[in-house]
Order: sequence, then C-alpha cells, then structure tokens
Amino acid sequence: MALMDVRCPDCHGLNVVKYGMQPNGKQRYLCQDPHCTRKIFIVRPAAAPAPTGVRLPAEMQQIIERALAGGNIEETARALHLPASTVAEVFQVLARFTPPPGGIASRGSRALRRRSAG
Ligand SMILES: [Zn+2]
Repeated sequence: MALMDVRCPDCHGLNVVKYGMQPNGKQRYLCQDPHCTRKIFIVRPAAAPAPTGVRLPAEMQQIIERALAGGNIEETARALHLPASTVAEVFQVLARFTPPPGGIASRGSRALRRRSAG
C-alpha cells in the first residue's frame, strides 16, 4: 500500500490519517498533531460547478458582461449564438448575487435611523 504525502493545511504536519469520506466522495483526513487546532480536512476541495449548459468560461464572461451592461436575455442569446435558456440561467444566477439598486447601503442606514428614533 502506497502512502500519500498528505499534509495538514494548518500545521503542515504529516501526522495525518484517512478519516472516512465526504458525502460527495472526497477523502477526508484527520490531523493527529496534538498542538494543531484543525482536526478534519479535505485535500484539494472541488471547484464550484458552472451552471449547466455553459461549457466555456469565455461564454460565461460575455453573458455576465452583457447582463451587467443592462442587456436582455434574447439580445444576448442572439449576439452570442447561445440558446436563450442558457443565457436565462446565467441571468438568474447573477440576479441572486446582485443587490438591488441602492441595496445594502441604504437598507443599513434606514435601519440605523429607525433604531435612533425609536
Ligand atoms: Zn494539523
């Protein structure tokens, strides 16, 4: 049985043993160094998956640029020669992460005003 050179990401020690699997099938490890604050870790966590239907990061980048410039789904799909469903998917994901106009900052100041008044 070959031993892997797995190091703890915190203490960089080699006093590490296999410790079962993540639900996604990744190998979990346990650091046995008594001075280490980290106990369980995973080597090379998987990158976040791209939305389905978008294969090239370049396509994704173009969709995002057009979405941020105020483009609409049909125009973007036609210009980039992509299915409208693919463009719609990226627009939906973006909408989830883009705060509404005047979003976080104004909401915070309103809350402060309310607190000082009441
Ligand atoms: Zn450690």
